[in-house]
Amino acid sequence: MLEYFYAYCCDVLDGFGINPWHHIKAFCGKRGTQWPRVRKLHLALYPTCSACGGTEDLEVHHVEPFQNAPNKEYYPANLITLCEAPTRLCHFADGHLYSWRSWNKDVREWAARKLNAIQNRP
Ligand SMILES: [Zn+2]
Ligand SMILES: [Zn+2]
Repeated sequence: MLEYFYAYCCDVLDGFGINPWHHIKAFCGKRGTQWPRVRKLHLALYPTCSACGGTEDLEVHHVEPFQNAPNKEYYPANLITLCEAPTRLCHFADGHLYSWRSWNKDVREWAARKLNAIQNRP
């Protein structure tokens, strides 16, 4: 239900005719004007790191980066919660493979496997 509401909100944002490219200054840098709202909504729906289950220093990562998919900046299916907790760095490690200029195409599956391993660790 919340997912549908969220998708609906993204459609509304699209309806404003926002072109993310106008607001993007650098890769993984400045977001579109509606990004703070979308980010807040995503974190309300997914308040834990998808890779470690942590709740500290959460960030919303784009599965497909702006340069590849600027039209997906606000799309729920393109977003995943990852943390930047100093001892975990899931966003940097799992989302970007230790390079902010790169990204992990399989981050969703990757994060799910890692989380499962952590939850079932001996
Ligand atoms: Zn990211
Ligand atoms: Zn994490």
